[in-house]
Amino acid sequence: MPWGITIGGAMAAFAKDAKRHGAAVAWTAAGISTVGLLTYVWREQRRVGTKGPAPDMPAHVELELPDHPGVNTVLDAGKGYRVRSRERAFGQARTIVGIVQAIDRYHAVRPGAPDVMVLDISRRGGGPMPPHKSHQTGRDVDIRNPGWPPTTNYAALWDLVRAFGEDPEVQVMFVDRGVQEELGRVADAAGQSARAAELLQVRGGSRVKHWAGHKNHVHVRFRGGVAA
Ligand SMILES: [Zn+2]
Repeated sequence: MPWGITIGGAMAAFAKDAKRHGAAVAWTAAGISTVGLLTYVWREQRRVGTKGPAPDMPAHVELELPDHPGVNTVLDAGKGYRVRSRERAFGQARTIVGIVQAIDRYHAVRPGAPDVMVLDISRRGGGPMPPHKSHQTGRDVDIRNPGWPPTTNYAALWDLVRAFGEDPEVQVMFVDRGVQEELGRVADAAGQSARAAELLQVRGGSRVKHWAGHKNHVHVRFRGGVAA
């Protein structure tokens, strides 16, 4: 038998085996996730039932989070935006839809604007994703400021923030206080001071809040899912 055929056959057998192996791993992972979730729910019920942590429950339990079974939708690059890392672009389905729709609204008011850069959302299945403390449940997304680097285009960022702000499923956005002040200025110049007052914390609004250090990206949090 020629070598080519032998090697080809071995490769095919290996691929088949790998496929079976992969399926087994996936089923095991799904099983572990389900057990994790049920354990979490059971613990939560016990905790609620006893009004506080059960006496036999170690203190760290409340920090444990199961893999989030809903964090299974990936944002692939599309029209008008790019995605920095696919591995870190998994979210709840509603989050992913909300991101795409907000970016569409942004481009509708800024035709020809450069692509929006989507940074971290969550990893597949959720859970810790250093260096973030959040981004665990598929409902947080970081979006790079338009124009950055080298300099933020605040007029464009204001349009982006307004676009996300139109989605009632967007619970809150975080940017540094100094960024909010810049956004307030461009809003005034565009005759949109009233909208700035609704959105920006520095103007008394409630949707765009201060988070120190968020100077070159905006952190958008969608509702839904478990808190983390
Ligand atoms: Zn973030």
